[in-house]
Amino acid sequence: MSNSPFQFDQIGIIHSCYRQKFGIPRQPGIVTAAEAELELLPPYNQENLVRGLEGFSHIWVHFIFHQTIDEGWRPTIRPPRLGGKQRVGVFATRSTHRPNPMGLSVVRLKSIESGNGKLILKLAEADLLDGTPVIDIKPYLPYADALPEAKGGFAPLPAVMAEVEFTEEAMAKCLSYEKRTGRSLVELVKQVLGQDPRPAYLRETTDRRHGSALWDVNVVWESKGDHFLVMDLEPYQQT
Ligand code: SAH
Repeated sequence: MSNSPFQFDQIGIIHSCYRQKFGIPRQPGIVTAAEAELELLPPYNQENLVRGLEGFSHIWVHFIFHQTIDEGWRPTIRPPRLGGKQRVGVFATRSTHRPNPMGLSVVRLKSIESGNGKLILKLAEADLLDGTPVIDIKPYLPYADALPEAKGGFAPLPAVMAEVEFTEEAMAKCLSYEKRTGRSLVELVKQVLGQDPRPAYLRETTDRRHGSALWDVNVVWESKGDHFLVMDLEPYQQT
């Protein structure tokens, strides 16, 4: 028996283009080219449970920050938005390190597909790591959930997107990957790097090499001051 009065059941799992935390946008909706699937797990993989959901363009996904659970939490956080210097309370942030490691994302629902005993919600614009456990789904209600006049504290607007360029070799590899898989890799890379995934303490560096795992490729890139340059694509194997 758990000593907590609450216990949650995992209802689904995320399959996503994001194979590593590094590179995932800090909120959903920013990278529109991001694709993911939410697979409902037994006994929740029944069409009855999602009846009527197809009429909603967006859903709220409640999930567990499973990859950072073991790191625990601290009462204050230095959000990247404040240059990683100023501290604010954990409950004033969307940090992954919280007393209860629960995440909440609003994502686009493209379609609901079933077959072979599986029930899958096709998603877009998610900020979720591959393998993320899902604990609840709710429809997004524009009349109640969209509040254009709301104040955004220390993060009033999305961060400005930087330019992303490709070497000839990297672009050729991206295009052949797109042809082979049907995935929009070029757009995904532009959006993922454009929002500058680097932690605040590396923001001022140039010519430093980074790798971001998207799908099954490791995108090798460098920061060039005012823009990013994609150098190469390598195969990526999840460890
Ligand atoms: N929209 C959510 C998540 C915000 S934090 C919320 O507000 O609750 C966004 C970060 O969560 C991303 O940068 C990504 O690195 C991280 N993330 C996504 N899935 C995760 C997981 N399963 N475990 C740990 N961190 C995760």
